[in-house]
Amino acid sequence: MSKFFDAVAGFGVTFGSMFKKPVTEEYPEKPGPVAKRYHGRHQLNRYPDGLEKCIGCELCAWACPADAIYVEGADNTDTERFSPGERYGRVYQINYLRCIGCGLCIEACPTRALTMTNDYEMADDNRSDLIYGKDKLLAPLAPGMEPPPHAMAPGSTDDDYYLGNITPPSARSTHG
Ligand code: SF4
Ligand code: SF4
Repeated sequence: MSKFFDAVAGFGVTFGSMFKKPVTEEYPEKPGPVAKRYHGRHQLNRYPDGLEKCIGCELCAWACPADAIYVEGADNTDTERFSPGERYGRVYQINYLRCIGCGLCIEACPTRALTMTNDYEMADDNRSDLIYGKDKLLAPLAPGMEPPPHAMAPGSTDDDYYLGNITPPSARSTHG
């Protein structure tokens, strides 16, 4: 008799599930949403005129517990400037075979150059393509930005950049 009740109890779970809304996610055709603060692919950000925020300081690399970041800084010059101030990140790589998505690197960044996006579609079929360089990590140029290298905004200092006082070239007044 107890076996009979066990079977009925089993069917109870089945019948109970038959009338629930399906939770099937149609990935990859319809990728589902993620939490707003989901730690996905990193992004190297730019100032409104297109100069890069990364100053090549390597703090992100030192903060990373998985040794996933490699940075080589270099000096800006008057003829070739990629960021405000003295230095920029000439080489910047993140190894997504190592990254655990902890976000310690973005907390360490002094210029908010490094943030994380919600993009999680980073699977690949070989190891080398999972080491992302600046070509994949740099934020795209928004309308009004100029691709570096180029000079800082006329009359500005690097402090103006850090304090958020820079506007895109297209938004600057042409009248004295
Ligand atoms: S998210 Fe964490 S593991 Fe990934 S690169 Fe940043 S510090 Fe390293
Ligand atoms: S991303 Fe930030 S912490 Fe990392 S090297 Fe560039 S400025 Fe420094």
